[in-house]
Amino acid sequence: MTTVGRHIEIRGIVQGVGFRPWVYRLATEEQVAGRVRNDTTGVTIEAFGPEEAVDLFMRRLEDSAPPAAAVSGIRSWAIPVEAAVGFSIVSSAFGPEPRVSIPPDLATCSECVAEVFDPANRRYRYPFTNCTNCGPRFTIAREVPYDRAATTMAAFRMCPACQREYEDPSDRRFHAQPNACPACGPRLAVLTPRGDQVACDDPIAHVAGALAAGRIVAVKGLGGFHLACDATSPEAVGRLRLRKRRDEKPFAVMVAGLAEAAALATIGPEEWRLLTSVERPIVLAMRRRESGLAEEVAPRSPLVGVMLPYTPLHHLLLAETGRPLVMTSGNLSEEPLAYRNDEALERLGGMADLFLLHDREIDARADDSVARVIAGRPVVLRRARGYVPRPVAVKPRFEAPVLACGGLLKNTVCIGEGDAAWLGPHVGDLENLETYRSFEESIARMEKFLRVAPAVIAYDLHPDYLSSRYALARPEQVKVGVQHHHAHVVSAMAEHGLPGPVIGVAYDGTGYGTDKTAWGGEVLVARHDRFERVATLRPLPLAGGDAAIRHPWRLALALLEDAFDLRPPLDGLRLFSEVPPEEVAVVRQMLATRFCSPLAHGAGRYFDGIGSLVLSRPDSRYEGQVALEWNGAADPTGRSRYGYAVDWTSSPWEIDLRQMTREVVRDLRAGVCAKAISARFHQTLVAATATVVWAAARLHGSMPVVLTGGCFQNALLAERLAGALVSEFSVHLHRHVPPGDGGLALGQAVVAAAIARGST
Ligand code: ZN
Ligand code: ZN
Ligand code: FE
Repeated sequence: MTTVGRHIEIRGIVQGVGFRPWVYRLATEEQVAGRVRNDTTGVTIEAFGPEEAVDLFMRRLEDSAPPAAAVSGIRSWAIPVEAAVGFSIVSSAFGPEPRVSIPPDLATCSECVAEVFDPANRRYRYPFTNCTNCGPRFTIAREVPYDRAATTMAAFRMCPACQREYEDPSDRRFHAQPNACPACGPRLAVLTPRGDQVACDDPIAHVAGALAAGRIVAVKGLGGFHLACDATSPEAVGRLRLRKRRDEKPFAVMVAGLAEAAALATIGPEEWRLLTSVERPIVLAMRRRESGLAEEVAPRSPLVGVMLPYTPLHHLLLAETGRPLVMTSGNLSEEPLAYRNDEALERLGGMADLFLLHDREIDARADDSVARVIAGRPVVLRRARGYVPRPVAVKPRFEAPVLACGGLLKNTVCIGEGDAAWLGPHVGDLENLETYRSFEESIARMEKFLRVAPAVIAYDLHPDYLSSRYALARPEQVKVGVQHHHAHVVSAMAEHGLPGPVIGVAYDGTGYGTDKTAWGGEVLVARHDRFERVATLRPLPLAGGDAAIRHPWRLALALLEDAFDLRPPLDGLRLFSEVPPEEVAVVRQMLATRFCSPLAHGAGRYFDGIGSLVLSRPDSRYEGQVALEWNGAADPTGRSRYGYAVDWTSSPWEIDLRQMTREVVRDLRAGVCAKAISARFHQTLVAATATVVWAAARLHGSMPVVLTGGCFQNALLAERLAGALVSEFSVHLHRHVPPGDGGLALGQAVVAAAIARGST
């Protein structure tokens, strides 16, 4: 029998997910000798034994993996045989190639949950229970490689019982870096907003009591603080809105289990899978009328965001309170999430009645992720806890490391290196100093974990975005400005490994165009390094700029002025009875003289404007509110549509929806319900878009189509448009990367790399 030796390198999410113990078990079962270790490239194995045994071992490595692992590649080669005895796990060593392999934070596994609820278990009711298959990872990592000493758990010394588990290859906690128990691990504390400790035997029972009594509690979680309250209590939720200064933007709700989730919202099989996935995002689903939730949780919204517990603390709290809890991010509206104890007390002191803290530090904040099922598949809308830092595989390889700084709203950053792109966690809207600091921290942390010194900096062309200014102030030589919608389209291309060209439909609120105007209803023929603007939506004047977005009645008026040749028939339209006539007169004057009324092509503005008109909703309390309601109003079975035109003589072609506006007014006057009008509106936009896509394909040749931009968070629009195109094109929607501006950075990175490659 020949004895052989093999060096095996496994890359991907392979650290902190029980990979080495799993390799150990396979090796022991196949009687292979050697060793396994973590290094900065992933996991490295040296295996020695009879040829058949080593082959079998290799095959099993290739064919299976621990549940939370994501293997992206295995390479192996023969090495000289060593007289190794047994198989061992050796401590981490640095490899030459820098690469992050810190896994994302993982929701508590069912075995750990069972232990926490088992009175006979030594971890009964212990809120920091975890194992190699679950627990905190990204949010507690301080350095790479991912080992306990490099995490915020370094402060806790394992007790003998935990140490035994940690060292026993047959144990579920073998090398579980955050392993802990009530004797040696982190502890809870209840504090008043002034920082005084509240004496209580059982912090969870104490807090559950406070929640049941209508109190607002700041709860320290995995990636930061939540503000929690009883989601069935209108008073509690109303108070939270007031204190958080958040008008109507929906709050996420955490429920104990799937049955409770199904009582609040329509949960299909895909929503079910998302809710129970190890990433545990907030899942947007259609709210049930009889949900039992306070109306204040998501006023007027057709959707509700639901999530299941993802830490033992959540499981215990939900079990103890026995009701759905609002779990919204612990911050004042527009500010980043609080994640350190002292910071939370200072910033949330005016919002929370009580604090549930613990002494395991969070190294960096990570918001809850948000996902939704669109066209039968999950789409990540906000990418943070649970997904970050899982990389996106990219082709062609990045020749030099790229840092992409993202956009202004829902900012994320991205580092591209080799064949992978790492999106950082959701940062938020870069409109205040706190968020800007968080943006800088996010970049610094990514650079540290990846050990990357970027050579190329990518940024949005908008000169006033803080992210663009940051990019331009960086010391690196090579900087590439990327057009907003080009970045959206390439983001979708990168996610699906499309080399281009593609026809990209990029519909969103706004993005800076190469002609310095606001784009946002764009059909592009795009490659990684360039694009041609084939078609655009007829622009609308935004009277007062951003004021038109906050007060979409101004958009409705602009639409009417445009569609009725400056003689808008306002009489009898309910919307305009809700706006003071003087204001209407002022805005008409602004529109007529184009005073402070920049033109914008954004598709989102049509949703805002027509929605405002038909639903008689003059104002939006948060970005996209009226558009969301307008989308939710649509009869999903409606198939009829309004008229539209395309101006084929202009360059780019112009999609002209004026006839639609006129017919909407006709329907309104005829008493047609909003449900039917909204369905026809969606159907019109779909038909008009499909028409220009077909025309683009006739002119430029058939190619794949990608649908991107914030408007494609709208499931009805995405499903209908994909449905209209699928017979002739391969149509791609986003999956793992947000269609909105949270996905921009990926596209920026790929575009910048392609342009930098071309220019050298
Ligand atoms: Zn576990
Ligand atoms: Zn212990
Ligand atoms: Fe955008």
